[in-house]
Amino acid sequence: MSAGPTIALDGPAGTGKSSVSRGLARAMGLRYLNTGAMYRIVTLAVLRAGADLADAEQVAAVAAEADLAVGYDPDQDLAYLAGEDVSQEIRGDQVTGAVSAVSAVPAVRARLVQLQRELAAGTDGVVVEGRDIGTVVLTDADVKIFLTASAEERARRRNAQNMAAGLGDAYEAVLADVQRRDHLDSTRTVSPLRPADDAVIVDTSDMDEAGVIAHLQELVEQRVGAHR
Ligand code: C5P
Repeated sequence: MSAGPTIALDGPAGTGKSSVSRGLARAMGLRYLNTGAMYRIVTLAVLRAGADLADAEQVAAVAAEADLAVGYDPDQDLAYLAGEDVSQEIRGDQVTGAVSAVSAVPAVRARLVQLQRELAAGTDGVVVEGRDIGTVVLTDADVKIFLTASAEERARRRNAQNMAAGLGDAYEAVLADVQRRDHLDSTRTVSPLRPADDAVIVDTSDMDEAGVIAHLQELVEQRVGAHR
């Protein structure tokens, strides 16, 4: 039996990356690995430990000990810290505000990259969603996809999601947060956010979610078919 495809799906916040990654995994019957959730779990551990976010040694020490786990199910997206289900808490403002600082610490990345490689291994195919999957974590992925969209469109989508979750309309603040995270993620020295040389860049500004998923599925089938 041949192995299922390994798909690296990277891009900035608000491109629809999570919904698209889950939808693609579901449509193709693949496992789903959300690496952003792993950085968020470590960030929650750092916040709970009261470590100084500006002190890389303190952050690295907490990260080294953090007992984290994530699920593979695209329909559940479960996250655990020391056995506790923290799937909701890691999406909150506190973690979102601190995660870029924590993910910029090299020792944090080294530990999580190693774990991500172990979790992605195996003969079942997997969609791995993140920022540096095609460039660092799985450089020999069968297909590398980099999703983009304008900052304004990404902020509009994120704000609509927040409003649907009962969080009120705050477009300007959401846009500022999108731009702040883009800047931090693309200028950090370790694993800056950028497409791999062999990634297919897909601009989702003018596409709906179902359209993006169908487009990616076709792309994966073409690529994987051509290599096997
Ligand atoms: O994807 P999500 O927005 O949940 O990711 C949260 C944060 O985790 C990102 O803003 C980024 O700082 C970090 N991250 C990363 N590398 C990854 C996945 C996420 O640095 N592979």
